[in-house]
Amino acid sequence: MRIDIVTIFPQIFEPVLSSSMLGIARQKGAVEFFVHDLRDWTDDRHRTTDDYPFGGGNGMIMKPEPLFRAVRELAAADARAPYVLLTCPQGRRLDQRLVEDLAARDRLLVLCGRYEGVDERVRDVVDLEVSIGDYVLTGGELPALVIVDAVTRLQPGVLASPESAEEESFSWGLLEYPQYTRPASFEGRDVPQVLLSGDHKKIQQWRRLEAIRRTALRRPDLLRTADLTDEERAFAQRVIDEYRNERKEPDRG
Ligand code: SAM
Repeated sequence: MRIDIVTIFPQIFEPVLSSSMLGIARQKGAVEFFVHDLRDWTDDRHRTTDDYPFGGGNGMIMKPEPLFRAVRELAAADARAPYVLLTCPQGRRLDQRLVEDLAARDRLLVLCGRYEGVDERVRDVVDLEVSIGDYVLTGGELPALVIVDAVTRLQPGVLASPESAEEESFSWGLLEYPQYTRPASFEGRDVPQVLLSGDHKKIQQWRRLEAIRRTALRRPDLLRTADLTDEERAFAQRVIDEYRNERKEPDRG
């Protein structure tokens, strides 16, 4: 997969793209990153990328010309047509389903906004606007890195065990089950016996139920679309009812 990023702060990217899993993915050739300075597509002496908003108001707006030029030139730079993303708090909220969709594409081109955002006409060269959450950051560089990280770890050959991605939070439509490592007993806190039993089937059952329990307690909204059997759904409802009853109990302290 090829990922191009267009930004006025290219220096932000290299330390992250060359570290840890992203660095390894790049070395293995699972993904190619190209970070571009938007100012390379300006045509004035000051390499200007922003201007005042028509109609007045606070802040500056990213000019359309450099962004249009960047998208057109980069699209022509490779036989694979890029799927163009604009980082934007008004965009589609990033979730694991969208990450999987993006990860399956040959090429992404991510535009990082700054100031008060981009001139509205830039949306004509964008395939999808992506938000990483309902809050406003100073620029699209961190959102771009969030997208790149989530997408890269799903590229074939990047994760040591691809099954781990399948069992992770959101992949089953559920949050992930609790995880433990050695020691089996730590300051009186014991690892659940079933995990030490070596009985793979029982461990799988336990993990599935614990994933449902955790989701019911922390993110009951996910249960609506999770793929659960009737029995599992009843279990989730019991967990929720018990939790509510516990909270309703009068304080006897
Ligand atoms: N005035 C814009 C608005 O109200 O929608 C916010 C502009 S924000 C200060 C500057 C840039 O940061 C945006 O153009 C976008 O690229 C990026 N950005 C900020 N928050 C974001 C978020 N939650 N998700 C994705 N991008 C974000």
